[in-house]
Amino acid sequence: MKLEQIKQLDSIDPLAAKKQAFALPKDTIYLDGNSLGVLPKAVKTRVDDVLSQQWGEDLITSWNRHHWIDLPIQVGNKIAPLIGAETGQVICCDSTSVNLFKVLSAALKMNSTRHKVLSTIDNFPTDLYMVQGLQALLGEDLCQLDMVQEAEITQHLDESVAVLMLTHVNFRSGKVLDMHKLTRQAHELGILVIWDLAHSAGALPVELDQCEVDFAVGCGYKYLNGGPGAPAFLYVAKRHLGKTQQPLLGWMGHAQPFTFNAIYQPANTIHQYLTGTPSVIAMSALDAALDLWHDVDLHQIREKSLALGELLVSLVQQQPSLKDFSLASPTSKHQRGSQVGFTHPDAYAICQALIAENVIADFRAPNILRFGLTPLYTSFQEVERAVSILTKTVQSKVYKQARFMQAQKVT
Ligand SMILES: *Cc1c(COP(=O)(O)O)cnc(C)c1O
Repeated sequence: MKLEQIKQLDSIDPLAAKKQAFALPKDTIYLDGNSLGVLPKAVKTRVDDVLSQQWGEDLITSWNRHHWIDLPIQVGNKIAPLIGAETGQVICCDSTSVNLFKVLSAALKMNSTRHKVLSTIDNFPTDLYMVQGLQALLGEDLCQLDMVQEAEITQHLDESVAVLMLTHVNFRSGKVLDMHKLTRQAHELGILVIWDLAHSAGALPVELDQCEVDFAVGCGYKYLNGGPGAPAFLYVAKRHLGKTQQPLLGWMGHAQPFTFNAIYQPANTIHQYLTGTPSVIAMSALDAALDLWHDVDLHQIREKSLALGELLVSLVQQQPSLKDFSLASPTSKHQRGSQVGFTHPDAYAICQALIAENVIADFRAPNILRFGLTPLYTSFQEVERAVSILTKTVQSKVYKQARFMQAQKVT
């Protein structure tokens, strides 16, 4: 595609104006919004207010005056439309890992005549570790992890499986699983389904209610731009609320926390999935970040994300110097989330060399260079520039310098 045509794509992009809402560093091409979203300007204002006025001046009265106590449900209700959920089924709390522990425990308890948790071997490790932890705690008679290849999920669904736990968009390849089909197939066999939406929420339309999903979890710091380590979210289908119980019985999940009763009585709402006191500063940041979505059409997000991905793939594939990069993501754009990965034997060093040129991508072991595409703030011209800098990096072999080979703690 010619530069003129690429400029044209930006000039007709209905989401182009949203970029102004973000405090993007100058001269940086940021293609890592799937790992850590960019700081929205409104978050800075909000956090300043939480620190100076709410905490600084109003202190403890802010729990009521500034509705700190309602943040988990308020934020949950802002996330709900992004994942196809009616209000009252989503709550913001803890980390994705901890939330998985809660919904896994609840689901296993609901399906207690079975004990198998089926997942994929290339799922995000923390998801698999949480099942392994539960297995160690409960014993294999009550919880047993079964990991299979992504292509073989369906053939492993049978009446011995209690819970099917899947990640909607694979973190390495960006491949999207068919939520409708897999949830239906599982339900036909009496299997409960948990979806991890870490790379889906804010990246593409999700239809939890329509698919009749049982439980879901997801991240606040990726496409939702809530900031490093932002609190996560958790979804429980309305039909299960009041009938299930997660086992971390903290006071915030009690029907009436402020009666300070010695005996636990569960809230019969999504609040039962809370454990302790919300992290107010972090949750306020996410709350402000979510306001950016109020006028965003998720179908426009998807359309732009697919177009950005197609442009990236075609520019890389057309460039003879980049012939050693193989697409690690599905070739059909409809099977990709909002990221594109390429394998290359020197992916790590190339990624470091790109970062030195202010093109921020990331590396996923063993050999994937991963580009996150964030329709709210990524432009078509940035994708073009990123590929042109990648081309220069490869042609000049600058990435072969020792400083780019050194493994950092976080990749
Ligand atoms: C990013 C990610 C997580 C992160 O979990 P934390 O508890 O927030 O560290 C979990 N699962 C998937 C699929 C992810 O992509």
